[in-house]
This record gives sequence, structure tokens and C-alpha cells, in this order.
Amino acid sequence: MAIKLDGIALSNEMREKMKGLAADFNEKYGHPVCLAVVQVGDNPSSSSYVRNNMRLCEQVGIKADNIKTEEGISQAELEAIIERLNNDSMVSGILLQLPLPKHINEKEVASKISPKKDVDGFNAISAGNLYLGNDAFAPCTPAGVIELIKASGQPLTGKNAVILGRSNIVGKPQAMLLLKENATVTICHSKTVDLPNVCNKADILVAAIGKAEFVTKDFVKPGAIVIDVGINYNDAGKLVGDVKQDEVAEVAGWLSPVPGGSGPMTVTMLMYNTYNAAVKLESNK
Ligand code: NDP
Repeated sequence: MAIKLDGIALSNEMREKMKGLAADFNEKYGHPVCLAVVQVGDNPSSSSYVRNNMRLCEQVGIKADNIKTEEGISQAELEAIIERLNNDSMVSGILLQLPLPKHINEKEVASKISPKKDVDGFNAISAGNLYLGNDAFAPCTPAGVIELIKASGQPLTGKNAVILGRSNIVGKPQAMLLLKENATVTICHSKTVDLPNVCNKADILVAAIGKAEFVTKDFVKPGAIVIDVGINYNDAGKLVGDVKQDEVAEVAGWLSPVPGGSGPMTVTMLMYNTYNAAVKLESNK
């Protein structure tokens, strides 16, 4: 039976550590680590997601400011808000809550966030820096996956890693982060031929496709580390991942659950990126 890679336990441990780091920062520099969350309009699911993230940040001593604008804000006005936050020395990190309304060019706004404060790692400069192996904030979900894999205690060097999904926020940055850890990386997508056969060669399998319980035991090499990033609802309305957890647990060596795996790690990595941004900004003053 696979060993559970418990994202809640690991997050709690890392957040406890963050409490100390954030308090020390506050004492040393006389102001808190601060995350600015920019939200356009009042989409209820975005609002509840933002509220939850802000509450969790506040719990570890990271100040969280919600900058909420009217739905009809113009591109120029939104970019001006980003510019103001870039120049505000009390703001450590900026998170642009997606999705944005149709009249706003998402990539353009994201590109205005200073790479020094791009704690979501979504803008083109951050992505380019990650690709080049330069110092950059990695997107939080794939960064959290690396921590979960490491929690297995297994070395990543030389391991055969397969990622299911090639999105800009999970699959592609995941590949860069696994390469950085010296894994041999394959990225699969909807046009990949014979997926089970590609996946079942993997020592490390990361599933991020958004298809409920798609990954069955045929995809999994015995003893592999399997990380389930998916967040889906099955026909019965139950929250499930991309991995058929019950049967994969019989084959895998380690398996992260849904819920309680990659989800809580994403917020935890947002806290760490914001703290690291704050420290770098202070040391460059
Ligand atoms: P996207 O929809 O942006 O990308 C999905 C990827 O999966 C695409 O590359 C697509 O291929 C590939 N794909 C889709 N269907 C198949 C298939 N049948 N076979 C092989 N590949 C397939 O999704 P995201 O990357 O944004 O998210 C993936 C999942 O992770 C979702 O369930 C999402 O909710 C979850 N998620 C979880 C987070 C967390 O905090 N745990 C954070 C972010 C996302 P192609 O490119 O060819 O279309």
C-alpha cells in the first residue's frame, strides 16, 4: 500500500516555520511581509478563494491586502494599480487573481508585475527566468509538488519523471523544476500516444490534466511516487483528483491524496515566495 504524501501535515510544518520567519522579518525591518491580492469584480468563487488565502497568510503573520476594483476597470487603470504596488516598498508580493474580465488582456497585466514581486511566477519574465535557470519565483502549485516529492525521502537525481499536462501554470513549470532537480523529464498532453505506456515507465508521475480519476493503476510503475494535482468533481459531486486513488494506492510507493495533497501546498508555497520576495527586496535596498 502506498505511503501517503500528506500535504496538510507538510503544510502545517512549513507554516509553523513561516510564523517564526515572518515574525523575525517584522522585528528586523519594522514592517510585516505583505502580499497584495488584486481582484477585479466580485466573482463569488474568486472572493471566497481570496478570503481563504488571505486568512491563511494572516495566520502566519503575513499581512494580506485585498485591492478590489470595479468589474469595468480599464486596462490602463488596472496596470496603474500594478505599477503603484510595484513601487510601494511595503508590498512584498503581488498576486493577480484570475480570471479577469474579457475586456482585460490578462498576459499584458501580468507582465506589468515586477519579477521581484511576481510571487505567483506567472508573468513572462518569471517564466523565462525559470526556463533559463535564473533566480525566479516558481509558480506555487508545481513548487509545492517538488516539496511533496521530497517528503518521500527519495532522491530525485536521475529519476524518470513523467508529467501529465502541459499548462503554463502547472505542467511546463513542473518540468523545469524537475529538471532543476536532475530528473529526466517527459511531458504528456492530449495528443500523446499510448499514455499508460509512457506513464508506467515513470519513477515520479505528476498528474495535472483536470480529468476526474483518469489515472488508473495501468499508468503506474510499481513503487512510483505519484502526485495528484487534479481538482475535479465526479458525477456524484465528490471532490476527486486526476488519479483513481484506491487502485493506484495498491501499486504506487507514495501517493498524494485529494483533498489534502497538492492543494494546501500551493498556498504554503505562496507564503514562502512572498517571504522570500520580502527578504530580497530588503537586502537590495
Ligand atoms: P489545463 O486545462 O490548463 O491543462 C490541462 C492539460 O492536461 C493540458 O496540457 C491538456 O493537454 C492535458 N490533458 C487534458 N486531457 C488530457 C488527456 N485526456 N490526456 C492527456 N492529457 C490531457 O489545466 P491546469 O494545468 O490548469 O490544471 C490541471 C488540473 O490541476 C485541474 O484539475 C486543476 O483544477 C488542478 N489544479 C490544481 C491546483 C492545486 O493547487 N492543487 C492548482 C492549479 C490547477 P493539451 O495541452 O493537449 O490540451
